[in-house]
Amino acid sequence: MKDESIVIVGAGHAAMALCASLAEAGQGQRLILVSDEHELPYQRPPLSKAFLKNADVTAQVLRDAAWFAAAGIELVLGEAAWSIDREARTVTLRSGRSLAYGQLVLATGTRARRMPGWPEAANVHVLRSAQDARALRDGLAASRSVTILGGGFIGLEVAATCAALGKPVTVLEAGPRLMGRAVSEALSAHALQVHRANGVQVQLQATVGAPEFSQARLLRLAGQSGVHDVDMLLLAIGAEPNAELAEAAGLDCDKGIVVDAQMRTSDPQILALGDCAQFPLGQTRLRLESIQNAQDQARVAASSLLGGSASYQPVPWFWSEQGGMRLQMVGLLGAGPAETFRRQGAQPGAFSLFHYQQGLLRCVESVNAPADYMMARKLLEAGASPPGPQVADPGQPLRALMPNA
Ligand SMILES: Cc1cc2nc3c(=O)[nH]c(=O)nc-3n(C[C@H](O)[C@H](O)[C@H](O)COP(=O)(O)OP(=O)(O)OC[C@H]3O[C@@H](n4cnc5c(N)ncnc54)[C@H](O)[C@@H]3O)c2cc1C
Repeated sequence: MKDESIVIVGAGHAAMALCASLAEAGQGQRLILVSDEHELPYQRPPLSKAFLKNADVTAQVLRDAAWFAAAGIELVLGEAAWSIDREARTVTLRSGRSLAYGQLVLATGTRARRMPGWPEAANVHVLRSAQDARALRDGLAASRSVTILGGGFIGLEVAATCAALGKPVTVLEAGPRLMGRAVSEALSAHALQVHRANGVQVQLQATVGAPEFSQARLLRLAGQSGVHDVDMLLLAIGAEPNAELAEAAGLDCDKGIVVDAQMRTSDPQILALGDCAQFPLGQTRLRLESIQNAQDQARVAASSLLGGSASYQPVPWFWSEQGGMRLQMVGLLGAGPAETFRRQGAQPGAFSLFHYQQGLLRCVESVNAPADYMMARKLLEAGASPPGPQVADPGQPLRALMPNA
């Protein structure tokens, strides 16, 4: 008899949202969730925020063991999926255990990028898992100063935490501006000013050259900006999709596991979602690393697994917390010039940037303006594009600009 089990590889945000959707739908198939981590699935966003500030904070589990039992989900912890036999429809785990599947879901996420050629060093950290975060927190407590390679979201969140803890912290960013891949120039410039005012040393266009290691510790980095002594270093230079399992199984991969709008890979019995999946959006293909993406793709994947036809057409959103700034972004800024309208928020230092391209509202970035951000999100989700001067007028309630308001 054919095995109709659903096997999910990876137990992060995407997999857990999928389990929740499937449990809610009361689907009848056997569900097996395989995680290479040893702990119950947990929230990742706090790991670069509240978790680092206080040694008593523990990782927040997404669901406890009782929930898995009640939902009838078999949770296999501490076991990596090692290979897929698409012909036989089996997944083999590192222990040698073989799991038969009717449908397989890859939710393998990403891993932190490392510096090519660098050896392991006790004072060099990355931040992806709860285990990484515990090691980083211990390292912070024992270090006099911190160097962070990379001025993206994770690097800057940790930098802000270090500054709040009173640790001297330096961010070395190779690009000309902070968060350069993800936010507008105006927001980058604002963030730079705030971080510097909070005591974070930021060097832009800081390419690092030869590292000097001794006794499994990184001692210093030589770069264009001179020699930089290192007490402790966080590598925050981006993430790479865990796509090797899919690649080895012969699935289409291109900087991620290629899926269609129903989250199906090039093998219709195998789906992929979350940070590892590269999906179609309009004329382009994209891979996003965000909770919104993981959760919304999970709803679509649940529909596909249960025979539905939902498709993923996101209005992406993201948030970050950095040194008193709550950054919230919705929409995507395409290539090419944008016209930006700034709306002052209710509090000092609060504002939103409304970005228009080809006359249409494409993206909104808010700093400490959650009410404006929520309304902006509704506007974008409704496909509305009110005139720029109107959104920039703080006397104009955004709600009034909704179609049919
Ligand atoms: C420190 C940090 C802070 C973040 N902050 C924010 C934020 O503020 N806002 C936001 O929107 N997003 C944030 N993110 C991003 C967000 O956490 C990710 O987008 C989200 O976790 C993606 O979910 P996922 O399930 O695709 O991947 P993950 O949550 O990474 O889960 C993938 C899981 O699969 C496991 N796995 C991989 N390969 C195998 C295998 N072969 N066998 C078994 N298991 C395997 C991995 O170990 C991992 O547990 C943050 C991420 C980090 C690391």
